Amino acid sequence: MSAIADLYPDVRSVYVDFSEVERFDPDLANYTLMNPTLSLKSAEDALKRMVSHTLTEPFVHFRIKLLPHDSRVEIRKLRAKHLGTFVSIEGLVRKATEVRPKVTVAEFECARCGHRTTVVQEGMQFREPLECSKDEGGCGRGTGSTRFKLLTDPSKFVDTQKIEIQEPPEGLRGGAQPERLVGFIEDDLSGRISPGDRLILNGILRSQQKGTQVKSTLFEINLDVNSVEYEEHEYEEIMITPEDELKIREFSTSVDVFEKIIASISPTIYGYTQEKEALALQLFGGVSKVMDDGTRIRGDIHIALIGDPGTAKSQILRYMALLAPRGIYTSGKASSAAGLTAAAVKDEFGEGRWTLEAGALVLADKGLACIDELDKMNDQDRSSIHESLEQGTISVAKAGITATLQSRCAVLGAANPKYGRFDENRNIAEQIDLPPALLSRFDAIFTMTDRPDSEQDRKVAGHILKAHRRGEIKLHESPENITEVDAAEIMRDSDGLVPAMERDFLRKYVAYSKRLTPIMSDEAMRTLEGYYISIRKLGEGEEASVPITARQLEALIRMSEASARARLSQIVGSDDASRAIKIVEYYLQKVASEGGKRDIDLIATGTSRSQREQIYVLRSLVQQLSDERRGVSAEELIQKAGSENIPEDRVRALLKRLSDAGEIYSPQPGYYKLASEERIG
Ligand code: ADP
Ligand code: MG
Repeated sequence: MSAIADLYPDVRSVYVDFSEVERFDPDLANYTLMNPTLSLKSAEDALKRMVSHTLTEPFVHFRIKLLPHDSRVEIRKLRAKHLGTFVSIEGLVRKATEVRPKVTVAEFECARCGHRTTVVQEGMQFREPLECSKDEGGCGRGTGSTRFKLLTDPSKFVDTQKIEIQEPPEGLRGGAQPERLVGFIEDDLSGRISPGDRLILNGILRSQQKGTQVKSTLFEINLDVNSVEYEEHEYEEIMITPEDELKIREFSTSVDVFEKIIASISPTIYGYTQEKEALALQLFGGVSKVMDDGTRIRGDIHIALIGDPGTAKSQILRYMALLAPRGIYTSGKASSAAGLTAAAVKDEFGEGRWTLEAGALVLADKGLACIDELDKMNDQDRSSIHESLEQGTISVAKAGITATLQSRCAVLGAANPKYGRFDENRNIAEQIDLPPALLSRFDAIFTMTDRPDSEQDRKVAGHILKAHRRGEIKLHESPENITEVDAAEIMRDSDGLVPAMERDFLRKYVAYSKRLTPIMSDEAMRTLEGYYISIRKLGEGEEASVPITARQLEALIRMSEASARARLSQIVGSDDASRAIKIVEYYLQKVASEGGKRDIDLIATGTSRSQREQIYVLRSLVQQLSDERRGVSAEELIQKAGSENIPEDRVRALLKRLSDAGEIYSPQPGYYKLASEERIG
């Protein structure tokens, strides 16, 4: 503590653990919890005397950390009795303003006589002198007959920042909206907190009267922050007792670990076994690494579900958001300013300052962001989501704010096909309305089609009916008294709808597994390499398309690592590699093949090789057939392209594409001309 006298003003805070205060004087410790304002003030006055040689009115802070457990209050449980007491609040930072100075001691000069008056500023309202006091040597004029000029130089300022925290999502019961609390931060603590941070704020709960014009008897609460503690690891939020650990270890050795995990993912949803297996791997995640050259490679596995309406996409997303540690469910068209990524806004909250607000991907840092209706996201999100998917950061540069926020989360996105429903006669990839640059960042893209098929329909219907009936029976206290149906038999029959692992246990299992960072075995490497090379080989030769790229290889590595984690294995074995290959094969066959041939460009660039060929053909047709004045008519192009085996609707689609890209234009409706002759190579 004596150090502060030497280090001031670089160090302006003295930190003390609450237990130290308690050890020093239990009564004082207790008093501090109930009357922190007075207690902290006397501590700070004492500190000020130690450093008073440096300044007349030094800023020093006495900050207490690690409050006792009883002082920990959930935001939604804050009540009038907590006002004025020391509380400890856990939360996730949603908003933080820029750091701006606030005047604490204002010096005024009387415009008539030049006499100076000092007014100490407290609270939010700016206070000016009422008169130029005669007792202090002034001229005695009041505000009616003189003006007071604020002198900024001799006045004293302190840095301030306003933040808003919300309850951490994992504490919320069944889809409740998180409650929020405003916090005020001063001096050396300001500027260190970013939206998305998970932290514990210790401070004094204050109240502020509502209404500026007409005063109300209602008060708002806010926190006068005294100290901040950061939560380092995501998995530490989930308590794992030694008994839990024993259970987890034992479970990991059973032969059907995977079957059990898969059977615990949305059991009320019928089918989708492959999809569920991929979702299981997503929960565990691959290993994120920092290379020797400083590049970070993500371990998060991103999955996209694209499907017809009513194929249980939203249902699955909601389920995963509840299951995953730090899971968040949101929709691409959610209306908050921050959207999915982040935003800098100037609104009431900032009181004149810019505010940085975290969107879903930042709030889900080190967790799982489940984004429904991904195709409906706004333009701002569209441009910044790539960075988040690949680098795990979101950069904001607007007005006075430049910031990089952390968003190291796995993304589970859902979207509908472009025209509402998949047309089975067309390439699936063409019907996905997400920019290729975005789509290709997903490690797996599953398409879910819903076509009448009596056998499948019977199974799904049976499953849904069973689930509903089970739900109905569960509402009865004594189902054995019902005579019309055999309740016990119904319950037995629908046993499979009970998750194989209880949700809490699975969450603990996942959290525990994250402590491991498995390493690839030689066999796993050989398996992945062998697969990759063999698929690439399909793309050799002049006519062939590129079947797979290094992005898929990385997806395979991540999924293999996740598979090892799910078994709590330190080593990635060849079985793990095979599991990853099975999943990647499954989805590539659906979305990255055309006429039985593999073509990764369907998702990587949005244009398959055969489409590219057609574009060249069409472009040269436009060039050859155009006359100087009018260009060439669509009809003529369709006819000529027809003899090259390009169907009419394809020609029309490609014409539109070429126009959109500015490569051709219409001198008059229905006619086309090449925009620039040199472009034909
Ligand atoms: P989407 O988001 O794909 O449009 P929803 O998640 O809203 O679809 O699903 C519609 C309803 O249909 C949900 O109540 C869901 O439980 C049910 N459903 C759809 N497919 C299945 C399935 N395979 N098994 C069980 N229920 C299903
Ligand atoms: Mg939906």
